[in-house]
Amino acid sequence: MEIPLHYKAPISTEGLTPLMQQYLSLKKEAGSMILLFRLGDFYELFYDDAEKISRLLNLTLTKRGCANGIPIPMAGIPASSLEQYLSRLLEHGESVAICEQINENFSSIKNSLVERKIVRIITPGTIVEDALLPLKSDRALVAINTTKDGKIGISYLNLVNGDFKIVADSTEENINSELHRLSPAEIIFSETSDIKTKHYNFVTKYTPVPDWHFEYDNAIRYLLEHFKIDSLSSFGLNSNNYQDIGAAGALIRYASKSQSRELSHIQNLYIERTDQLVFLDSTTRKNLEINKTINGDDSPTLFSILDKCHTQMGSRLLRKWLNNPTQNTDIILLRQGAISAFINYFFYGDCLKRNTLDSIKSKLKQLPDMDRMLSRIALKYIRPREIANLRNSIRLLPDLHSFLGLIKESKLLENLNEAILIDPSISKFLDIAISEDPSISVKDGGVISYGFDKELDELRSISNNNSNFIKELEEREKENTGINNLRISFSKIFGFYIEITKSQLNKVPSNYRRLQTLKNTERFSISELKQWEERILSSKEKAIAREKFLYETVLKFLMDNIKEISLCAKSLSEVDTLINLAEHSHINNWILPTISEKTEIIINSGRHPVVEINTKIFTPNDCIVNNEKRMIIITGPNMGGKSTYMRQTALITLLAKIGSFVPAKKAIIGNIDRIFTRIGASDDISGGKSTFMVEMIETAAILSASTNKSLVLIDEIGRGTSTNDGMCLAWSIAERMINFNQSLTLFATHYFELTRIPHDLQNAVNVHLSAIDSSDDIIFLHEVKSGPANQSYGIQVARKAGIPIKVIESAREKLNNIKKVSAEYNITEICSYKNKKQPYDEYIDVIYRSIESIDLDNITPIESINKLYEIKNILEKLRK
Ligand code: ATP
Repeated sequence: MEIPLHYKAPISTEGLTPLMQQYLSLKKEAGSMILLFRLGDFYELFYDDAEKISRLLNLTLTKRGCANGIPIPMAGIPASSLEQYLSRLLEHGESVAICEQINENFSSIKNSLVERKIVRIITPGTIVEDALLPLKSDRALVAINTTKDGKIGISYLNLVNGDFKIVADSTEENINSELHRLSPAEIIFSETSDIKTKHYNFVTKYTPVPDWHFEYDNAIRYLLEHFKIDSLSSFGLNSNNYQDIGAAGALIRYASKSQSRELSHIQNLYIERTDQLVFLDSTTRKNLEINKTINGDDSPTLFSILDKCHTQMGSRLLRKWLNNPTQNTDIILLRQGAISAFINYFFYGDCLKRNTLDSIKSKLKQLPDMDRMLSRIALKYIRPREIANLRNSIRLLPDLHSFLGLIKESKLLENLNEAILIDPSISKFLDIAISEDPSISVKDGGVISYGFDKELDELRSISNNNSNFIKELEEREKENTGINNLRISFSKIFGFYIEITKSQLNKVPSNYRRLQTLKNTERFSISELKQWEERILSSKEKAIAREKFLYETVLKFLMDNIKEISLCAKSLSEVDTLINLAEHSHINNWILPTISEKTEIIINSGRHPVVEINTKIFTPNDCIVNNEKRMIIITGPNMGGKSTYMRQTALITLLAKIGSFVPAKKAIIGNIDRIFTRIGASDDISGGKSTFMVEMIETAAILSASTNKSLVLIDEIGRGTSTNDGMCLAWSIAERMINFNQSLTLFATHYFELTRIPHDLQNAVNVHLSAIDSSDDIIFLHEVKSGPANQSYGIQVARKAGIPIKVIESAREKLNNIKKVSAEYNITEICSYKNKKQPYDEYIDVIYRSIESIDLDNITPIESINKLYEIKNILEKLRK
């Protein structure tokens, strides 16, 4: 009977083979990570790792021998397809430890166990392999430090290009919005902190690490050792930043351990001041569909329509800018200047200048992802062909530099262009060091150019100069033996041999040593041939060893110049992003917005950048919000364009704040510190929140965090509850925004009662989206007009959507009845701000208190009648 597989690895190593003992000790080191254990041409997995991988990747689960009579479950993947399996494991959120055979010189350790070591740990945040990384987005690794005294430190690292930062002044409240801004692939936190439970709904990999990694003393020591410095003061850090240092130290320790080597390309630690950015909370990022649509698709989004960058580095930078709009006017003006310079030169000059654009674009397209090569240079993973690509791209730079030099009048472009022109000694060195078309791996030889190293050239000439020797020896032996069909050949098993047909065997001299007998021929060797062969083979081996050594020299050279290469890569990405924005602006008729220091947004004929691309005729609209006009109350039919109008205002503001041109005829964008949105309705069932609860939580966040410099979009507030509750809430929230927060607010609503607000409060105005209603159809004009809408058209839209006519008729009848009743109550008057002296709530309060004060056990019948009269009186007053 077959013994069922036991997936749990044994605790004791007793009765296990030395190989399995070695496996178990490495598995202990790998902990909860999947251990890929190198065995020859395969990575093998045992016990529960084998079960897991076979389940996740649908691999065959087999067994390898027995331990104490129990079969050992096993699954394997070919080493040659490692990347493909890794990407699938990472998609499942798994972390992987890769164990390699260290001592590859098998001949010297024939009977002993091959040494094995975990050489890499790959987790979602520590990937550096190109094939495993998304092309157009970064995969940040984030550390969150929660200290005992309640401080928060956040640090993040882009391992691929070495960008390492501390988020200044982090607080518990902004963790969530920071995580959405950084969109991390992995978050590390101390194992005793409760971060994970608080932010569990943020979809990413959470990795606990020991508490002491975050402790100040350990963290600072690690950072100082990493940067090889005595103090962090050059980074602007001191002991007051203990929470930040804790996070950064734990982060760099984790990242270094994952690669099992120094991360020498991480040469700086920046403090990022988020108060310089325009704050966008997680809901706003989602609602504005910057990176993903509301449904979670990659397009159409602001990024997807804008991204026609020619390099992946450019695309990633564009995404970064869109997610980090800035309040720093200097940065905005510099980018505006560069985009304007490109537009003026390329599109308003003669056609020759347009050719320059094509030439620049074609050069950019040929560039490899230089930014992502940095980590692979530092970690020595970079392959010969990548270095050849780097060399080839450096060759393109002088031309690119001259083309860009033609475009004047932009300080930013001038600086970028200077950084692009890499030191000629770098390109010269790579030109002479690396072959024009190197092989895939140094092990195969042919990577280092002829002429670079004398010793290598000599070894190569010995190993290559074999054809003449063989020919000469063959001729000589034919003559010596008189065997005319004697042939010298090569086989992998026997090396070089002399082949003689059976009919000629009687002529074979005595110095011939028989190697092999075949059907019609026999194979022989002679000492001269053997000696020559040994010389050739050893020179080949020596040549490869020499190439490996020289390759290390090339890597060291690149490492020594990594700062310059990194600066060049960053400048190239910026040029690409700016050209992309310039081209998009020109093609789509975008204009240069004026940046003002006042708190205002003035847009003339603004358009929604995404909707306009997918709509045949888009109706542009104006929008003015400023000190005098802080709230626009927007009414109009369903499908009328209210949400589009609000979002386009936010997107135009955001685009202006990244330094881009904007879709409008004219725009003045003032000093905006935050953008908030409360749009649409969705629940968070897994988070235990209903639709209405989510709506109120988002609104509460806006009421508490928006300032008089914020842009706030509120769409359809109070819809998830009863009409009266919802309407009163919406009304009070609007009043609060005008009187207290004083933000620039666009407030769309279907509660017509709210159009009363501008009568009471001078900072508010009504606008509506126009539509034409005929007896059998409704036509949306999508035009913003002043004043409130006269009706909602909800029933007409429902009819358009295909709701049965019987239902529509019944709804119309009900609506007419409701209109009659509500006319009697005049709710608008009751809720009006001017009615504050006799507020509804106060009456209810009096009735409540009056009933509460009754002592039911002691009240006399006459007293109770009087009480009822009293309550009735109050109710009557309320009606009036
Ligand atoms: P509801 O009240 O039902 O949420 P809404 O008033 O918010 O509707 P939107 O969602 O903004 O309406 O717009 C509905 C559709 O109308 C959009 O998807 C778009 O196709 C079109 N639309 C909106 N604004 C414009 C415009 N200015 N020009 C052309 N088409 C527009």
